[in-house]
Amino acid sequence: MVDDKICIGCGTCINMCPVGAISFDKNGKAKIDPKVCIKCKTCQGVCPVSAITIKED
Ligand code: SF4
Ligand code: SF4
Repeated sequence: MVDDKICIGCGTCINMCPVGAISFDKNGKAKIDPKVCIKCKTCQGVCPVSAITIKED
């Protein structure tokens, strides 16, 4: 998940996600589509402000 209060809307995670699971919501914050995400954790690693946490099921 993306913490809206921490995300600065830089777009890095959107550019790095290999399956295009992330987009901006209407407030300019990153949003992950759980139906598309393969939990590779790339976004979690590249976010400059550590706004993303990917949990295993
Ligand atoms: S964990 Fe991987 S697949 Fe899921 S949103 Fe992040 S970069 Fe995309
Ligand atoms: S990389 Fe982090 S700060 Fe940048 S848009 Fe994604 S969640 Fe927000």
